[in-house]
Amino acid sequence: MKQNLITFSTHNKRPFHSKYRPTHFDEIVGQEHIVCYFKNVILNKRISFAYLFIGKHGVGKTTISRIIAKVLNCSQPYYGDACNECVNCINISLGKSFDVHEINAALNTGIDNIRYIIEKIQLSSVDGLYKICIIDEVHMLSLNAFNALLKVLEEPPKNVVFILATTEIKKIPNTITSRCHKLFFLPIDKINLASSISKIVWVEQGNVTNKALLHILNCSEGSLRDAINLIDMLMINDRNITESNCAFLSTQIPYSVSHLFFSYLVSGNIISILQVLYHIQSKNWLENSLLTQIQKMLEDDIVNGSPLSLKSQYLLSLWQLLLKYQSLNSFTNSIFSSFLFELINLVLKSSTPKKSNNFVEKKKVPSLIKIGNIYIC
Ligand SMILES: [Zn+2]
Repeated sequence: MKQNLITFSTHNKRPFHSKYRPTHFDEIVGQEHIVCYFKNVILNKRISFAYLFIGKHGVGKTTISRIIAKVLNCSQPYYGDACNECVNCINISLGKSFDVHEINAALNTGIDNIRYIIEKIQLSSVDGLYKICIIDEVHMLSLNAFNALLKVLEEPPKNVVFILATTEIKKIPNTITSRCHKLFFLPIDKINLASSISKIVWVEQGNVTNKALLHILNCSEGSLRDAINLIDMLMINDRNITESNCAFLSTQIPYSVSHLFFSYLVSGNIISILQVLYHIQSKNWLENSLLTQIQKMLEDDIVNGSPLSLKSQYLLSLWQLLLKYQSLNSFTNSIFSSFLFELINLVLKSSTPKKSNNFVEKKKVPSLIKIGNIYIC
């Protein structure tokens, strides 16, 4: 009985991201296209020797890799999914399988690490199971390590599957990417994030207010792992998550402030722009988050073809300016000052033709005849 209590207690202390990690394809959130693809691959037995998973952190790349490893070696698979009950599935879940090797290239960048894992997978499995090699953060490998990996990908051993995962595909040599089936993982949308987070909070017998939930979703930026880690951290203090006890989570500029800034930017209201900037600088908010947010608003306006698109040249120049500063690796105070200087210069330039247009419009007014509150052309 005591042993059971200890087991229960230990189980409860597991971090949420591990405790609630999906073990079946059907539990995966927000990557339906990837799940559908792999179910068909497995059902039709069209397994490739190398896959490259591309996407931001916390969207399911490693989780899906482990499920694939289980499905491929499961002794009683069920409609393209793993049973999670056979010896092979259990060993893979516990990290004890001799057929599945997983390394994080961020911690094992060298050629020796890759050579070690290649030697392991080249020993064919006694019972004919697949040898699966999962390399997370593969873009972090050294050039020599990539060359060693390339040699194996050129002549892959039988029944070996490489699953490479990355957040930065541009850092991987083309010789590697061209030999892999590339799969792009999407950021998790807010509806799926909200649903997953609410379920976990409910199972943990807690409560989360709508405003707190929205704040957590905004901080997570499409990463389910980030969102789960946030509620894990918050529920240590209080099972009831409110807006006030999660306010410290982010130093990002609140969306409402960015939206106000953007509306003044579009209308060219220089005094109000400066007032909002003064407000932003008086807080401890990350100033570069302003760029990310207004760029998103600008893109939405352009895509949705709102009346703002009438000022297309101004918006295009504004977009170019945002892209220029977004591409910088660091965002110091002096860089923010240069950005503001260029931004205000741009607003001033755009407001000049606006004044002349106003003048023309004013000259047209006499052509209207006003009768009471009604204008007749
Ligand atoms: Zn199984």
